[in-house]
Amino acid sequence: MEYSSQLEAKSAEQERTARALREANEKLTAVSIQKDAFLSQISHELRTPMTSIRSFSDILRDGEVDDTARRRFAGIIHDETNRLTRLLDDLLDLGVLESGQVQLNIGEGRLSDVLDRAVMASGIDPARVRIERTPAHEGVTLRTDLERLTQVFINLISNAAKYCAAEKPRLRIKVRQTQGATEVDFCDNGAGIPPEFESMVFEKFSRLEDQGKAGGAGLGLAISRQIMTALGGDITYLPGQGGAGFRVSLPAAAAAPAP
Ligand code: ADP
Repeated sequence: MEYSSQLEAKSAEQERTARALREANEKLTAVSIQKDAFLSQISHELRTPMTSIRSFSDILRDGEVDDTARRRFAGIIHDETNRLTRLLDDLLDLGVLESGQVQLNIGEGRLSDVLDRAVMASGIDPARVRIERTPAHEGVTLRTDLERLTQVFINLISNAAKYCAAEKPRLRIKVRQTQGATEVDFCDNGAGIPPEFESMVFEKFSRLEDQGKAGGAGLGLAISRQIMTALGGDITYLPGQGGAGFRVSLPAAAAAPAP
């Protein structure tokens, strides 16, 4: 090779190495910014209940309070402690799921039983929220981590109860089997998710403004998406349903052959 072409090859290689280093550096900076943002969000989420617990326990310790007020303050401390515990449980769960180290406990069960359990465990008030289920395909037997799938369903059902502000809230649960997957749709008749928020709804700590006391920390859907990925499936937002709509898809492998 001529001297000049050797020089050109060398400088091209140096250019490639410099670019790779620059890209690696940019990635590291992005990861570090994400980590900082994550930590500051956690601190913010923890601070609100902690401040409330501290203030009310100070009043109980130092103030002159009658019995009614004492019970009310103790109730607030109790609720805020529960909120903190839930938040920490969710953060730990999300950490395990994101690390890819989650232990799946695969079993077989009927989809209709999983849905029954989730409706019960979501604590939904049947007198307030009407649940409509299409019976077709509910005889589907699944082979998957049934507990984790129940967790996803509970989240979707309790979100419908929490966020659907319709006068007569209704949740439709529809099961569909295609060759490639089993799909379970959850559609309510509330205001739904604004289009500009749809792409963010599965991000951790994302939640719409103005949810008053109903809102959680915005971790439920992030956890649900991680679970569905671990189960080889997916969870997506279904726009245009006249309310909020979510689709849980399970891979064909999760549908066990009929006994
Ligand atoms: P959280 O765990 O705090 O309830 P999620 O991650 O489950 O949060 O949901 C994220 C956000 O998506 C909620 O704060 C809410 O703004 C919105 N959302 C979720 N489900 C619904 C629904 N059925 N109707 C309207 N908004 C919803």
